[in-house]
Amino acid sequence: MSGSLRQREAEGPAGQKALLKWERCTHWGPMSNYAWVCFHCRSAARRPGSATDVRCPSCGNSCERIGYKTPIPPKSKLKEWEALRSLGHRRRQEDLARRTRDRVRQTHFLEKEILRLESMPPNPGRTIAVKLLKKRLNAVLNR
Ligand SMILES: [Zn+2]
Repeated sequence: MSGSLRQREAEGPAGQKALLKWERCTHWGPMSNYAWVCFHCRSAARRPGSATDVRCPSCGNSCERIGYKTPIPPKSKLKEWEALRSLGHRRRQEDLARRTRDRVRQTHFLEKEILRLESMPPNPGRTIAVKLLKKRLNAVLNR
């Protein structure tokens, strides 16, 4: 947020006006810039993106983070809330798929590299490199 704060300041009076408006609409200050929504009662709260276990201020159920650019539908628009929910679901699945793909790719690369180095005659530099690669591989596998 600090980057964008500075950016706002650099934009001059118009940017500062936007910043003031932003601060007015978020009672928790500029750091609480993420919208968390409760699909149980269709309420929203603003909390930092790093917050964990955000509870709904109205019903106490746990909220889901939806980011700070996604518009929050009015309480009465059931269809829009449904769309918001499936959008979040799809995004989480895409995110998971992407992370799995990255992990597999990294694992393959490290394994190949270890095999390649181990197939060559050992020397101190190679031994260290293999050790480091194995450490990294372990870190990737245990993530
Ligand atoms: Zn709620």
